[in-house]
Amino acid sequence: KEIIKVKQLSKSYNGLIAIQNLDLSVQYGTVFGLLGANGAGKSTTIECILGTKKPDTGEISILEMNPFLQRKQLFENVGVQFQEANYQDKITVAELCEVTQSLYKNTVDYRELLKQFGISDKTKSMVKELSGGQRQKLFIVLALIPNPKVVFLDELTTGLDARARREVWKILYDLKSKGLTIFLTSHFMDEVELLCDKICILKKGQVIFHGTVKEAVSAS
Ligand code: ADP
Ligand code: ADP
Repeated sequence: KEIIKVKQLSKSYNGLIAIQNLDLSVQYGTVFGLLGANGAGKSTTIECILGTKKPDTGEISILEMNPFLQRKQLFENVGVQFQEANYQDKITVAELCEVTQSLYKNTVDYRELLKQFGISDKTKSMVKELSGGQRQKLFIVLALIPNPKVVFLDELTTGLDARARREVWKILYDLKSKGLTIFLTSHFMDEVELLCDKICILKKGQVIFHGTVKEAVSAS
């Protein structure tokens, strides 16, 4: 059964085509990878799926909702982490988690999540003082706070060293085993091979591959 379905999505910015006739589908409980170079259209696609950007044309359904018409309801059921998220301000891990928790009606206790990911000793630390790996784990915690059915993770392991990446992978693998649907973007083929059931590769707003990772590897 499909949790996300995108049909013939197109979006331009002042004549510049960001996405053209994109079709994709994500099944419940799977990990989907959206790949492509910078500027390929990944962010635009995710923003349209989340209803924060309006497509020019196309149909999108997520959790059987129209994201553009049911954005608030959708917001309660998805977890989102974005690369641009910038926490330079003087805020602690606990404060950031509490602010996030206050945005949602039904939430998971963030302290449990911090414990689960082995960073509960950082609760009172400043976010900007965390190591790269700890920060990315915190971002996963933030995305899981609304007890979502699907999470969107944007380049979660970019900039991490090999060990921290493996730790993040383990967390994602465990979440997948528990049945969570994960929609991620990545630049790393090894990561995608390990985690993703299906991938879509974008180039200049067009799909150049959509299928299983196995098919992608044998095609290349
Ligand atoms: P990616 O996430 O793969 O890097 P984006 O979806 O951010 O790709 O961008 C796709 C294309 O659309 C790029 O050429 C980018 O410069 C352009 N673009 C994205 N957002 C805007 C915007 N708000 N205004 C104008 N151009 C944009
Ligand atoms: P990423 O590669 O992480 O997706 P981008 O640099 O492509 O990041 O885009 C980050 C955000 O900046 C996008 O979501 C988009 O809204 C905005 N953006 C990107 N390109 C442009 C642009 N040419 N003009 C205006 N806004 C843009």
